[in-house]
Amino acid sequence: MLGVLPAVTKEGEMDFLLKRLVNKALKTLCVCRVSSEREKRVYLTFDDGPEPGITEFVLQQLQLYNFRATFFCCGARAEEYPELMEQLRAGGHVVANHSYSHIHSYRVETATYVQDVERAARCMQTSLFRPPWGGLTWDAWRTLRTKQRIVMWSLGSDDSSSTEDFDGARALRHLIEGTSKGEIVLFHFSLQHAPNTKAVLPGYLKWLSENGWTAGVLTPELR
Ligand SMILES: [Zn+2]
Repeated sequence: MLGVLPAVTKEGEMDFLLKRLVNKALKTLCVCRVSSEREKRVYLTFDDGPEPGITEFVLQQLQLYNFRATFFCCGARAEEYPELMEQLRAGGHVVANHSYSHIHSYRVETATYVQDVERAARCMQTSLFRPPWGGLTWDAWRTLRTKQRIVMWSLGSDDSSSTEDFDGARALRHLIEGTSKGEIVLFHFSLQHAPNTKAVLPGYLKWLSENGWTAGVLTPELR
């Protein structure tokens, strides 16, 4: 049967579809995996924190295997929890930018979005940036790309699904099957997704360690 395109009844829906298409194309211009990686190494990344109650858990898990990771933090939370930011840095992890207030590029003017991202970049002293939800308009990308190294991901843990839909064993299988050199792996470190993260992270780190994988941190120079 031939596919039928959904009827676009409102201008807003068309605009949204176009933004999604542009976003898909833009992702190919951002860092999605470390393609230069030759070792058995993946790049663990955590978004949305820091928040108490989950940051400590993630840090303890990483420490068990001596893994380092890149934490894409929200500027507002970084300012609220300086002691957690200190713990991240003290553990040798990399602090990166996930915007100041976790706003979506589609929903605000480009100037507002760029200001929010640059505010977070200043407060966390980093040029590594991951857009919230991986969403980026053409104008935002064009404006930000000269100063920020924009990083997406290549392998998702699915830990941001609703808790009812999340299956830890299935998520772990997906991660294991998807692991290859240079993958940038997405997790979260927010209270909202904590039950899911706690259900999948320990098993994955254990598997990585038992199978001879190491974990690297992202830097603006990585390709
Ligand atoms: Zn996010």
